[in-house]
Amino acid sequence: MSQDLKELFESNRRWSQEAQARTPDFFSRLLQQQVPQYLWIGCADSRVPANEILGLLPGDVFVHRNVANVVVHSDLNALSVMQYAIDMLQVRHVMVVGHYGCGGVMAALQNRRIGLADNWIRHVQDVRNKHRPWIDGMPDEEMRMRALCELNVLEQSLNVCETTIVQDAWQRGQQVVVHGWVYGLHNGLLEDLRITAAAVDDVMPAYGSALAALKERFDAEWNN
Ligand SMILES: [Zn+2]
Repeated sequence: MSQDLKELFESNRRWSQEAQARTPDFFSRLLQQQVPQYLWIGCADSRVPANEILGLLPGDVFVHRNVANVVVHSDLNALSVMQYAIDMLQVRHVMVVGHYGCGGVMAALQNRRIGLADNWIRHVQDVRNKHRPWIDGMPDEEMRMRALCELNVLEQSLNVCETTIVQDAWQRGQQVVVHGWVYGLHNGLLEDLRITAAAVDDVMPAYGSALAALKERFDAEWNN
């Protein structure tokens, strides 16, 4: 690896040439404007790149990523991304995408100290605490870990629905659908946790049924 990262610039030039070879007006079209339909709120983990996983091109998905895909009501960064995506770009779908094997979720589950991020991961520990008796009742750590990754998606999706941004959009009749998904590092596949909400009245029923389905699935697994 060179100090000035020449190899990355070479790789970038190749990518640019290939994109233009496939679609000659690719960049000039993107220059006009972006009209993404999706806002992806995912983990910062390098193994979970939004566009690549969805097979989408630049211009197709607006992205916000942080450690453990957390949505906090006082996080100006996430809220600004959401507000711009929903109010200005008028995205139709917002997906919170967690992933199995998430280091942030694991640190939260195991009370592991990693540094400044401990304060951020506190939010995932709040999720763990909310569901603690159920999680603690599980037979092994691997299952607890998978369960907390999924629970975190449900809780963060709920947080998205409860932001003033999404609430206001729904209030004025704008079509925005919130989704909660989880991604498998082991197989490259996305799974819908079915907390889909498209209106204020959808939120609690969607959360309730998604949570019940999640628990039922894990309960069945460990009772087998
Ligand atoms: Zn992660």
